[in-house]
Amino acid sequence: MADSPTLLEPGGTNAVGVTLGLVGDEWNLLILRHAVMGVRRYAEWRAALPISHAVLTARLAHLTAMGVFDRVRYAGDRCEYVLTKRGRDLWPVLLTVWAWESAWVPEHAESLPVMTHRACGSEFRPVLACQACSEAVLPRDVSGVFGPSGSWERSVPAGATRRRGTSAEAGLFPQTMSLIGNRWSSAILGGAFQGLHRFRDFEQRLGAPPAIVADRLRVFCELGIFEQVPSRDRADWTTYHLTDKGRGFFPVVVTAIAWGQRWFRAPEGPALVYRHRSCERWFLPRLLCGTCGAALSGQDVAVGR
Ligand SMILES: [Zn+2]
Ligand SMILES: [Zn+2]
Repeated sequence: MADSPTLLEPGGTNAVGVTLGLVGDEWNLLILRHAVMGVRRYAEWRAALPISHAVLTARLAHLTAMGVFDRVRYAGDRCEYVLTKRGRDLWPVLLTVWAWESAWVPEHAESLPVMTHRACGSEFRPVLACQACSEAVLPRDVSGVFGPSGSWERSVPAGATRRRGTSAEAGLFPQTMSLIGNRWSSAILGGAFQGLHRFRDFEQRLGAPPAIVADRLRVFCELGIFEQVPSRDRADWTTYHLTDKGRGFFPVVVTAIAWGQRWFRAPEGPALVYRHRSCERWFLPRLLCGTCGAALSGQDVAVGR
């Protein structure tokens, strides 16, 4: 089941919403980080993370239901959680989260894994490139628009395990979580990558309550994700533009959405479609080693601490 895509309900949550529900949860990211480093057993996660019994049980059940883990019996009634093909395919998302955190949130750098490219033997940062032409890309090189299952309503994070007050529990990826850990933050970030700049556009296009838009814009400015720029039309209007730090999060967004659309298919078609402006082909992400320039694969990357 986990080796082929899951068909989503017609008219329901799309692949973006499913993906945000998974990667917008800090515990999921931490559980997956240890899983790619070889952890399979409940007790090992309990030993490695400041996680409660209830939270770990709920997250493992949710990740198993999503096809990320296979629950495999060993020694009688004990179970191991083994990453499926779908689960192992999450490595570009984890890598880009860690790379962004290590570049832009230096106070947490020591809690991040060290990534080594086996082929060239160096520690590296991943570079985002186009799968079709292998050229490195920046956000402005890629145009993204909603596809047939794309809309803000259908992209709301889905998550059976999400409860109020559970975010920021571990505090290891606080900035990643303030960007994608809740519905309106991720919508505002997505809107910014689609070219929205004005308060009113965020409010109207996203259907977001004005008080929430105001709060998120303030937080994004404080975190250095957005900067305020006076409008060219009227000097007393402010527009919000992504900074280098904000644009630096783009690889997380596109690798996560590509994973979601690979493994969760809405019957109507994709939620988001990207095109690489210079080669004019559909854009899918590929990661290159920032040191030697070679294309990375999951097996090429050693993760350790
Ligand atoms: Zn291209
Ligand atoms: Zn390399």
